[in-house]
Amino acid sequence: MDRTALDRLRGELRPDQIDTSPSALDLHARGESWDAVLSPGVVVYPESTEDVRRVMAFAHESRTPVTPVAVNSSLGGHTVPIRGGISLDLTRMDRIVEIAAEDFLAVVQPGVTYPRLNEALRATGLFFPVDPGAEASLGGMASTNASGTLAVRYGVTRDLLLGLEVVTPGGRVIRTGGRAPKSSSGYALTQLFCGAEGTLGVITEVTVRLVPRPEAVMGARAAFADVRGCVGYVADLIQTGLPVARCELVDAAAVAAIRQHLGLELPALPTVFLEFHGDDASVRSASALALELAEEHAATEASRATDPEALSALWRARHQAYYAMVAVNPGMANVITDVAVPVSRLAEVIDGSLAAAARTGAPTYLIGHVGDGNFHLTLFFAADDAVARARVEAAYGEMVELALAAGGTSTGEHGVGLRKLPYVRAEHGDAVDVMWAIKDALDPHGIMNPGKKLPQREGGSP
Ligand SMILES: Cc1cc2nc3c(=O)[nH]c(=O)nc-3n(C[C@H](O)[C@H](O)[C@H](O)COP(=O)(O)OP(=O)(O)OC[C@H]3O[C@@H](n4cnc5c(N)ncnc54)[C@H](O)[C@@H]3O)c2cc1C
Repeated sequence: MDRTALDRLRGELRPDQIDTSPSALDLHARGESWDAVLSPGVVVYPESTEDVRRVMAFAHESRTPVTPVAVNSSLGGHTVPIRGGISLDLTRMDRIVEIAAEDFLAVVQPGVTYPRLNEALRATGLFFPVDPGAEASLGGMASTNASGTLAVRYGVTRDLLLGLEVVTPGGRVIRTGGRAPKSSSGYALTQLFCGAEGTLGVITEVTVRLVPRPEAVMGARAAFADVRGCVGYVADLIQTGLPVARCELVDAAAVAAIRQHLGLELPALPTVFLEFHGDDASVRSASALALELAEEHAATEASRATDPEALSALWRARHQAYYAMVAVNPGMANVITDVAVPVSRLAEVIDGSLAAAARTGAPTYLIGHVGDGNFHLTLFFAADDAVARARVEAAYGEMVELALAAGGTSTGEHGVGLRKLPYVRAEHGDAVDVMWAIKDALDPHGIMNPGKKLPQREGGSP
């Protein structure tokens, strides 16, 4: 960014909101599970919608690229400012604006994290049920349409958004949706900005739906001799219609990483972890039926867990699983798949994906929100080994192809970022041109998180 532009930007905000120090630029040059490093020209910390409006008006006029970033936990280069410009760090916009328990909703600034919101909701008996592994922000979660271990019961972020405040790339402040539990008015702009990965505007306020905390919670786990056993069990379990709130598969390699790094005692076998929410009688009978079914599927070990402390330790460990895998592969780069497929096709797609991963020789870990057909294979390789990288990238492509052929998607929850760009056209065909038309209408100068989410136009640049 040139000096004159920087001086103009400095005129819009306080000095401590604009940072060009090497440490700030370096911190905003990288993301999780994406090892290319590209610095922004400046890091800007807005504290209000008006601050964002000023920055966007400046960026629009000067054609400066803007990359929004919050907790920076997205997995695929979403926040790496590949065209330089402004890294718009929203973490200072962290106020819980309102909790309206009587209307089952909360209004927050985008930098509020979901654990903080849930802490603030503790006395109300309500909670916000989307729980990605990292302590992500509500703005980031809305922008990636995040989900997590509870999506099988409560839905994904998009299902729980009532409305947004957004600053458009031209610097206009708009409101989408509202506070009513339902509406048929206007186009569904809330749903459009949700999952846009910061390519259509900056979310400056989020109104979310809350749900009652369950009266009773019961955990269960079933270990099997192999992954196929786990998947066959899950497919049947989902078909029973039992009130499953969590249904996670962790393979033997991932269990070993969790044991080694987090010290949790678990059988070193592929395991399905379950949780049931409801009243006391319903969770007891559901978990009993789940265990019976596990026996029918020849589980090698199956048990229930009622102790709340043990249960929360288990889910904490599940949320830390990625860091456990990174810790046992020090200094290595990784890629994470995020395909989602119909549950009936899960077994064949997991089998094919594991075979593709095995051909690379890379250390591989399988973890999945399998109750909703979504699983992640994480493959590790030496960052400076071009051959290993190419092999892993090729296997990644094969895995996405398998998912698409099964009627699935390249990304169930992480979003496209840079990682899944090569597969967007194959997944959406000519609908990509409609997406570009929307992008052009909202962001005519292409300043919002350029180079992400949509693949190159045919014969043009993104
Ligand atoms: C250990 C680990 C476990 C994870 N588990 C899950 C999981 O289970 N489920 C899941 O869905 N994800 C998971 N993720 C990925 C990640 O947590 C989610 O993608 C999350 O939604 C990102 O939130 P964030 O605040 O970190 O956003 P960031 O990473 O900072 O940004 C994400 C995207 O949103 C854009 N953005 C951020 N804020 C705004 C805003 N206010 N307005 C417009 N655009 C904005 C950014 O430009 C970027 O494109 C995991 C990540 C890690 C590291």
